Amino acid sequence: METSDDKLERRLYSHDLAPLPKEMDVLFKTMPDQVVRPNYTEDVVQIVKKANATGKPIVPRGAGTWGLGGSVPVKGGTVLDMTSMNKIISIDGKNLVVTVQPGITWKALADALDAQGFFLTCYPSSAPSATLGGWIGTGGTGIGAFKYGTAGDWIRDMEVVLPTGVVIHTGDKLVPNNGGGPNLTWLFVGAEGTYGIVTEVTLIILPKPEEMRAVAYSFDDLAKFGPAARRIARSGVAPMHMMFSDRLHFDYLRALGKHAPEVGCLVTCMLTGSKDSVDLEEKKLDEIMTSEGGKKEPKETAEHEWHERNYEFRVRELGAGAIPGEVLVPMENFEKALAETRALITNMKLNAPIIGTVSDINSFMLMPYYLTDEHNFLRSTTAMGFGKKLGDIAFANGGRPVGLGIFFAGNLDKYRGKEGAELIRSIKKLLDPNEIMNPGKMVETGTRFGISLPAFFMAFGMNMMAGMKRLMPRDRVGERELSKLKK
Ligand SMILES: Cc1cc2nc3c(=O)[nH]c(=O)nc-3n(C[C@H](O)[C@H](O)[C@H](O)COP(=O)(O)OP(=O)(O)OC[C@H]3O[C@@H](n4cnc5c(N)ncnc54)[C@H](O)[C@@H]3O)c2cc1C
Repeated sequence: METSDDKLERRLYSHDLAPLPKEMDVLFKTMPDQVVRPNYTEDVVQIVKKANATGKPIVPRGAGTWGLGGSVPVKGGTVLDMTSMNKIISIDGKNLVVTVQPGITWKALADALDAQGFFLTCYPSSAPSATLGGWIGTGGTGIGAFKYGTAGDWIRDMEVVLPTGVVIHTGDKLVPNNGGGPNLTWLFVGAEGTYGIVTEVTLIILPKPEEMRAVAYSFDDLAKFGPAARRIARSGVAPMHMMFSDRLHFDYLRALGKHAPEVGCLVTCMLTGSKDSVDLEEKKLDEIMTSEGGKKEPKETAEHEWHERNYEFRVRELGAGAIPGEVLVPMENFEKALAETRALITNMKLNAPIIGTVSDINSFMLMPYYLTDEHNFLRSTTAMGFGKKLGDIAFANGGRPVGLGIFFAGNLDKYRGKEGAELIRSIKKLLDPNEIMNPGKMVETGTRFGISLPAFFMAFGMNMMAGMKRLMPRDRVGERELSKLKK
């Protein structure tokens, strides 16, 4: 186990994908007192027991690729970097399960499985760097979700170190949880590292499909994809993944000198199965997409986009922050939520491409991202205003934002209702009586002073920021590059 209190290193751990402006130090002590890298479950138990004795917080961290501050301290303490716990413990091809430590990246695991003829059904698009523990912690949706579901659906068992230092198993490695009492696995999926630290995961795997085929269709406008997606959801065709990007996303990529299609919007689908079933599904997709106004794009475009699925934020190479917002909206309200999101982008004077996925047969995930100078206090704080307003659009359309973290913890009551949110808070109190496990997130927006910011205060502040952004001059980041493209 490695421990460091080096200042530079601690600073590196004081932010995640979306760095906080230093002015926020008034409220949050994001700089940890130390960074510890455990190798074994026993190391984690030891650290947790020590934290209980001293009352100092512990913050579990994977790769820090989430943008809601889940792995960033709000009142110092120890950041527990789990990336050294990255071993594959066993690949059991007879029973189709793999057991791993949680600090392995999704891509490293997928590659190791692929080499032995197996297949990982779902992973986040940040798979090259995101860890298993991190994505399980956020309970996110990702690649593979349309056909197979998300990580929680494929977990057989997890070993978890509770905030008291007690170690539990949430299921059985080789048999499902049916008839085994309440499903403990799901208690920790999406708990954002506040209920305990995942130290081992057993996942179901599949034999590699005989055929994996990417197909892509362009539409002159993203809104036109809505009716096609609803027909696909009812057709029985089940692509592993369906993702889309709008024109501005591709314009930025071309401005960076990357290869990208010149289309209003592109939908890329990955079909998996036997060759015969994939042939049939492709035929059916062709029929639905083209009859709804889509145009089939060449195989090379589809394969290129599938390869690019893990690199959505290449535009960061422009030297700008690409700040994403993420919301789930019901299928039937896709066009309405999209139109409202576009109006918000215009009103807030942003340059914001819209990308997203069809997350399952009921819903879409919209992920607009905007370019900004993340080191500029005013500009970067208004990012939160955009996220708040985008969330309001999702709520108004029967959906909701994805994740809580530090800043959106006030949404918990909206997600689960007052009584549901109270239950989640009481479970937290029961599991973590000394409040050492990743405090100040998910159930509250905590501060360095130990007091929580009330939900109405956060909402008011974020609405103010959004209002301020409307009054500020237009963001110009990336426009110079785009204008060169037009010449
Ligand atoms: C390019 C890009 C694409 C992305 N695509 C997706 C996507 O498709 N789907 C999606 O859902 N998200 C996506 N994200 C967001 C993010 O990558 C995911 O949430 C990711 O899985 C987080 O993993 P991480 O290892 O970086 O976790 P971190 O950011 O380090 O942590 C996330 C949360 O999990 C907790 N945690 C970490 N490890 C453990 C552990 N061992 N035990 C308990 N809690 C733990 C942390 O405390 C924190 O609250 C994307 C981000 C980027 C930059």
